[in-house]
Amino acid sequence: MNVLLVDVDSKIPNLALMKIASYHRGMGDTVGFRVSDPKKIYASVVSKKNRHRVDGLRFLYPDAEIDIGGTGYDIHKVLPEEIEHQSPDYSIYVDCDRYLGFTSRGCIRNCPFCYVPKKEGRFHRIYDSAKEALDHIIGNFVGRWKQVELLDNNILADKEWFMEVSQEIMSREWRVDFNQGLDIRLLDEEIAQRLAELRPIRDWKFAFDNSSYEKAVMDGIDLLNANGVDVRNRCLFYVYCDGDYQYDDAVYRCRRLKEKNALAYVMMNAENNTTKRTRALKRWTRPQIFWTIDIDDYKVRA
Ligand code: SF4
Repeated sequence: MNVLLVDVDSKIPNLALMKIASYHRGMGDTVGFRVSDPKKIYASVVSKKNRHRVDGLRFLYPDAEIDIGGTGYDIHKVLPEEIEHQSPDYSIYVDCDRYLGFTSRGCIRNCPFCYVPKKEGRFHRIYDSAKEALDHIIGNFVGRWKQVELLDNNILADKEWFMEVSQEIMSREWRVDFNQGLDIRLLDEEIAQRLAELRPIRDWKFAFDNSSYEKAVMDGIDLLNANGVDVRNRCLFYVYCDGDYQYDDAVYRCRRLKEKNALAYVMMNAENNTTKRTRALKRWTRPQIFWTIDIDDYKVRA
């Protein structure tokens, strides 16, 4: 059977499509992004605003069975069990240079803008050991790369698991990225020390989404600095701004981060309209601008 994959808008290699590719290749099917005359099509949409981009599939391929998923299309949809448990087929993304996967699912929190608790439930490990997790994430691509991008939504929710997974990563001499960020409210001395030992692929990412946990963010920054993590150059703090009504609060959070020598990165809610000042705020958190000028001066000039 010919199976066509459609990746509408993923910013990183799409894990679900890689698992689907593994499953169908294992069944002897021809699978990929340029397969002609498909009998089955899987499309993935990450962002809601791109939903319309799969509308034409039913007209283009009237005889094919079409399966559309992704958080931008249906946040409740999950892969069938037999596909979810596949290791990824990294070969469908020729530029892929790292392993990707989850070692846990779910989250202990319930942030109003986040789909994770609704889709994945409470935090839980999905492997019995870190070795099993990483071996499964590698699949048949043993020895290809020395870096892994973990997509866990809140791995610090289980400190013991974080320590085990990160120890396994260090023993393999890999670099790592915690793609979804690390929950600074759960940081302690031991975790900060571990972050100083690990080799990041990119910056360590944290969030300062709400002023209600300002103290935890400030204390967390102090802990990172005290344990040898280069906060200014090696960390990034997402500042969520739901819409224009949160502008002042977002500015406050950015300024507090700047006072602590920590880089802010404003994340706007993509579902809400932006305004002139929220767009300026987002632009302001580009590092070269953020470090040199205050938002009020930037707005005047922008
Ligand atoms: S901590 Fe992160 S993953 Fe958990 S609910 Fe909040 S935004 Fe979602």
